[in-house]
Amino acid sequence: MTDRFLSGHAACGGCAVALAVRLVLQEVGDRAVLVVPPSCIAVMMGPLPLSATRLPVLQTAFETAAAAATGLARAYRARGEDVTVVCLAGDGGTYDIGLQALSGAAERNEDILYVCFDNEAYQNTGNQRSSATPWGARTTSTPHGKPTRKKDIIGILAAHRVPYLATASPAHPADLAAKVRRARGLAGFRFLRITCPCVPGWGIADDGSLRLLRAAVESRAVPLFEVEEGRRYRITHRPAGIPVAGYLRAQGRYAHLTPSEIAVIQADVDQTWQALVDAT
Ligand code: SF4
Repeated sequence: MTDRFLSGHAACGGCAVALAVRLVLQEVGDRAVLVVPPSCIAVMMGPLPLSATRLPVLQTAFETAAAAATGLARAYRARGEDVTVVCLAGDGGTYDIGLQALSGAAERNEDILYVCFDNEAYQNTGNQRSSATPWGARTTSTPHGKPTRKKDIIGILAAHRVPYLATASPAHPADLAAKVRRARGLAGFRFLRITCPCVPGWGIADDGSLRLLRAAVESRAVPLFEVEEGRRYRITHRPAGIPVAGYLRAQGRYAHLTPSEIAVIQADVDQTWQALVDAT
């Protein structure tokens, strides 16, 4: 196993994004080029002349990651070079600001691997809400809790009928690595969403990310699954179905929730899980 993400990067201690980037880069091979829009990942990669990875990195404008990756992938193909073009983006650059370029690349079935490290807010600018922030979560721009739901990015991309979509967690590294390898072996548009707790943004201890992720997955708040051609759903980890309250109560961003608000979230988790089961 080759580490392509190096020590000395600028992530906070205990950052799950940094761990997830490391796990993804272990599987992308040496013939990969990275495209990184503004995000905590861009900070981690380091300003020139410093770099936290052995791979080439193209840092793009916020809204252009999928468009820049499209151009790179087509240029390498025109030159006859076998290069894997990989976007490493946050949820702001994926769900919000980069959605137009992302949808265009998905619709054209561009030959890129797009990985969204979803920490559910704009964390590198101080924890402002994004459309990936879940209902009820407190951010600096939703101090009383976000009043709307998290956008269903997998459902949106599934509607594009792209070859491969998956969700993953760095607390489930074998599952994550298998999905990156699978995506890398396919052609066309491939997308992974990796849920990554943020230490200051989610209000957790710096040794708490992986424990929290296991609770997220076992409570079904973060189901692990993959989708082929936008239609064939497969659950890759059967969760225990523990109450979601434990996952929520472990985070400062949900500390204000009342029992009835937690019941609303539990009902939504149950409904979303059942829809996923019905789709498999
Ligand atoms: S702000 Fe959050 S996501 Fe960004 S580096 Fe720190 S812990 Fe990681």
